[in-house]
Formats: sequence, structure tokens, C-alpha cells
Amino acid sequence: MKWSEFLLPTLKEVPAEAEAASHILMLRAGLIRKLTAGVYSYLPCGLRVLRKIERIVREEMDRQGALEVLLPAIQPLDLWMKSGRFAALGEDMITFIDRHKKQNVLGPTHEEVITALVKQEIGSYRQMPVILYQIQTKFRDEARPRFGVMRSREFIMKDAYSFDVSWECLDRSYAKMYDAYCRIFQRCGLRFLAVEADTGVMGGDASHEFMVVAPNGEDRIVSCAACGYAASLEKAACLRREQAPAAQAAPVERPWEILPTPGKRAVEEVAAFLGITAADLIKTIMYSADGKPAAVIVRGDHEVNEAKLRRCLGARQLTLADEKMIVQATGAPVGFSGPVGLSAAVPIIADYALAAGGPWVTGANQADAHLRNVSLPRDVAITQWADVRYITPADCCPRCGKEIRLEQAIEVGHVFKLGTKYTESLQANFLDDAGRSAPMIMGCYGIGVTRIIAACLEQNHDAQGIIWPAEIAPFQALIMPLNPEDPASRATADSCYRQLQRQGIEILLDDRNVRAGVKFKDADLSGIPVQVIIGEKNLAQGNVEIKTRCSGERLLAPVSAAAARVQELLGME
Ligand SMILES: [Zn+2]
Repeated sequence: MKWSEFLLPTLKEVPAEAEAASHILMLRAGLIRKLTAGVYSYLPCGLRVLRKIERIVREEMDRQGALEVLLPAIQPLDLWMKSGRFAALGEDMITFIDRHKKQNVLGPTHEEVITALVKQEIGSYRQMPVILYQIQTKFRDEARPRFGVMRSREFIMKDAYSFDVSWECLDRSYAKMYDAYCRIFQRCGLRFLAVEADTGVMGGDASHEFMVVAPNGEDRIVSCAACGYAASLEKAACLRREQAPAAQAAPVERPWEILPTPGKRAVEEVAAFLGITAADLIKTIMYSADGKPAAVIVRGDHEVNEAKLRRCLGARQLTLADEKMIVQATGAPVGFSGPVGLSAAVPIIADYALAAGGPWVTGANQADAHLRNVSLPRDVAITQWADVRYITPADCCPRCGKEIRLEQAIEVGHVFKLGTKYTESLQANFLDDAGRSAPMIMGCYGIGVTRIIAACLEQNHDAQGIIWPAEIAPFQALIMPLNPEDPASRATADSCYRQLQRQGIEILLDDRNVRAGVKFKDADLSGIPVQVIIGEKNLAQGNVEIKTRCSGERLLAPVSAAAARVQELLGME
């Protein structure tokens, strides 16, 4: 490809609309352009990268025996009502009413559609297991689209679905997809972690997220270098009470007493007023679990993890209690709730971290007052001890007890063991070898194809621009005659171009009549792995310069050996 005949508009300035490195680079290197908030066009160079990632995804899915399908983006809303997920996705769904007054959804995901399809086409254990996948555009009306294609309203995903006759068989399908994902992300040049994840709105039993560590990531992950433990912040377990190093709370002799704390509600306010730290306080938070009040107590400097709490309470719906419920349950205004003397009708879940430390300061269940010298479990009728908080950097690894790291990360893939969540609600059954009917056991597996590009750029760039991993670079080599007016330079560039093309290498020839400085800047910005620089001075000695973008290393090669050196540097000998 010749640059002069290509559409590759690079930008010198950092676009005002972009904050994340990947977003800036995608705009500056002419990969994408914005149409409207969270909606982007791919220019030819960006599309070349996208197609390469899609090819890797297809190769790895096919290798595991998965079958490609293409499902519709337009889906009847009825289907989402039947699965019960319309409410769960809420305003993220893009819906429209067609001319026949029927309600439709622009698919944000395809569990419902694939289950309906499989229900029609597969009825016997003989046709299973089956794994179907597609690469398709998804639509989500994100509240805050940002960072370019990292969080956009229209994006390309690879989604796959497995249907098995038993949980053991699902384990095998899951392992195949897990393996495929590792290979895909490796080939895309990503440094990633597979972390244990919460199943959230998807439902199901086990799941892993594939996370790319990057400062602009919107997710947080916890990892341990000592034992390899890795989990999402949502899922990361905190060390249990019986394993905690100082599990024995100091005995408190004195009884609790009331302290006036006029107008002090928030943990920080109370701590400052009493001259103590947040870690000396117990926070009592009232929840409504399926409409009934429940109290959770955590240390003042800890945060309640609602996913953990919901599981612990076995609640379908968990929300913060409203003012009315709080006043009813505690007899006090909001901000003064405490666990001492709380009605026996309100279950109290105590976080494991409260097993050590104390005596505590807590709310007093009366206005403008707190209690001190509260001792656990002496003064509180605890219903259950549980891990109901987020892990913090001060915690240790839940598996080996060593130090942990908390980092920002970008989720690029997610695998779930769904079980029968969708096959039961949509009645996708099969006949087993004894002729009995049972719901299929399902798994689902997603990759953010467009997001891989953003994640890759977050990890692979420097101050000058992009450093593409070889397998997904838009071109493998860039030929740069610095003075295309010079006949010798032009002839050398043309012969190099033809020879590399014959060798099956994808080449971009910068034949533009622009200053050498512009070519150098654009070459580094566009991140093509190998640059062949043809300057008049070197050429007079019969040489060209070859630069590797990733290491910055330069070498001189005789013109006749240039193509072979490029091939070597690309690892294609
Ligand atoms: Zn560990």
C-alpha cells in the first residue's frame, strides 16, 4: 500500500476530546474518528487492526471446535421479558417500537437469542455438546461513554455459548474457552491476568474475567505475586476471622456508655469529634433485603461489598434501606444507627474484620449520640459473621497471607458457567440417554474485540506513539524514502517494496512528498514494527537503515540484504 493512495490522516496535536492514552493514539494515528458520543468510525488502518484481531479470535475459536453463527441485532423485547433480564439491564438497553407497534431491543448481548435458537434446533444429547460463537456489533446506551472505544455505545464483541448435558461436560467446554482466551490475548500482545470474578447481572456460578493491567482501566483487580492469586475487587475474598493473625479481641472490662455527638453522623465527623480514627468505629448500615430490614456492621474504614452481602443474605434484591425503614428498625434518625440493642427482628451481619480490635465506638440508635466501650460479641446479638467488605491494600492475600496489590485494569474477556439460568426460563430442554427431559447446561464467553485495541494501546506505546505487537499491526513494515524526488531513493524504495511484498510481508510505502521530519514522526506514531529508512547519504554507500520500533534499535544493511533483514526482524525467517 502506498501512503499517498491510502486514507491515513495523522494528527500532530492531542485532540481535546481524548484523555486516555489509547484514545489519543487511535485518533492521532488515524485509526478512528468520532461520529457522536460513544460512537466511532474505523478508518482503513484501524479496520486492518480490527480484522486481524477478528482473525485471531476465529482461528482460536475454530481450533476448539466452536461453530460460527451470526445472530440478529434486532431482538423482540418479549424474549427479554421471558428471561427476566429487561429490568436488570434497565436504561443500558436501546429499544425501539417498530411500525407494527412491536417493541424491540438492539442486542446488548445474545444469551436470549441463542437459547431460543438452540431450543428449536437441538433436542437430544446426541447433538451435544455444542459451542456456537459470533463476532457482532452490540449496543449499550452507556451512561458515560468514554476513553474512545474502551467504553462506547456501539462495539464489536465475540460472544460464544456452550450447551452441555451435565455440569462435568460444562467444565470441559469452559476449559476449552478459557484456553482459547489465553491464546487469543497472548497473540494480541496483551499482558493479562485471568481473575476470579463476580457473576453479577449475568447470573450463574463460576466466572473469570480476563484483565489487562493499565492505569486507565475502569476495573480494579487484586493480585498476589507470591502465590498467583488474582480476583476482581468485587470478588476478592478478605481473610477469614479464624485465620486473622490477631483474631482474639482484647477483653473489655468496662460496660458501654453513651457519648453525646451532636450532629455528627459520618464516620469521619464522629472520629474527628472524639479524637479517634475511623478504624476505632463500627459502621452500621441498614439494608432492605427483599423488602426486609437487615443490618451490616463493618469497621469504620472499610466499605461494604454489596455483592458479597447479597449472597450472604441470600437476597434477590438488595438496596440501602430508606429513611422510613431505618427509623422503624432503629428508632433513631439516619446517621445514628448502631448494633447494640437492635430489634431481634433485624438480622445483624458482622464483618470478619470486627473479630479483632475494639473496644468500639458505634451509633447509639438515638439522635446525637454514640456508644463507646462496645465489645463484640458481648454487646451485640450477631446473627452471622461473614466476609462482607471490599479488600484493601492493607489486607493480606486470602490464599497465602502475603502482600497483595490493587491495580486498575481493563476487562477484555469474561467467561461464565451459567448453568440453567436461561435454559430454564426459556425452556431449552434436551432428552438425555435415558429419554428424560432436562434443561441444557449453558456457559457463555465474551471478548470485547474493539476494546482489545484500546487495551493493547494502553500497554504498548511510548511518548512518540504506538508500538504494535507484530501479529495485530496494521502493516508489518514501513518503507520511507526520505527524499522521493531523488531517483535513486525512489528506485530503491520501489524495489524493496516489491521484494517484501513477494515475501508476503504487509508493507506501507511512505511515498509522500513531505519533510523527512514529518515522516519520522508519523512512522513512530503509527507504530509499524519495522521501518526501512532510505536516505541519500546511506544509499551512496549502498546501504539502507532499518529501525525496530519496539526497541528503537537501528542497523545499516546493504540494499540487496534489506528484505532479508526485515524478515529476520519480524521473526519470519
Ligand atoms: Zn497469595
